[in-house]
Amino acid sequence: MDLATLRDVLVYLVGLLACFALWTFVIYWLHRFSHIHHRLNPLWWIHRAHHAEPYLREDSHPSWPTFGQYLFWLGGMRLSLDVILVMTLPLLVIAWLWPQYGIPLLVFHYFYEVFLSESVLDHNPRITGRVTRWFAWGDFHLHHHVNLKRNYGLLVCFWDDLFGTAQIPEPGSSLARIRARSERLQRSRAVASGARAAAEQSDLGSAARA
Ligand SMILES: [Zn+2]
Ligand SMILES: [Zn+2]
Repeated sequence: MDLATLRDVLVYLVGLLACFALWTFVIYWLHRFSHIHHRLNPLWWIHRAHHAEPYLREDSHPSWPTFGQYLFWLGGMRLSLDVILVMTLPLLVIAWLWPQYGIPLLVFHYFYEVFLSESVLDHNPRITGRVTRWFAWGDFHLHHHVNLKRNYGLLVCFWDDLFGTAQIPEPGSSLARIRARSERLQRSRAVASGARAAAEQSDLGSAARA
């Protein structure tokens, strides 16, 4: 590769990175704006659907996308609109202004949302530690589901660090939370079935006495 070609490649990569940074900056603010709880804020009404999904659950293992997900139907009307308004639309504007960078980013966005976002990276409680200081995956994003005023960044953590909204949970905290919850559930089931058995015993006793 001659020097001129190398320079072109470097210039292209800098442009791509700048567009990626601009895109994630807009996503950060739109997502933060979506958390303004007001009846006149349609983004909050739409985004509430994402927070109503039980992402912190025991069976949240990576899985293959459904047929609808390939068509960008991301689990429901509001769930799809949430991604389209906050992520896809800003990227379409970038692609309109700078197609050489925006179109590859649109391809990346499609594959990321269809194959990686839901349970492979963003909502995978098994992703913990150093990588979640850079990328809004696993513990970092799941912590946003616990504390709605923190960790607004999607894809990267950089903007939360810059604007002071980053909160780094203990490594593995989402898994710990899931396990604590399922233990609590098991305990309350055991108590309920114990109470049921005791009630049946006493019913039998009173029937025998009658
Ligand atoms: Zn949110
Ligand atoms: Zn989420």
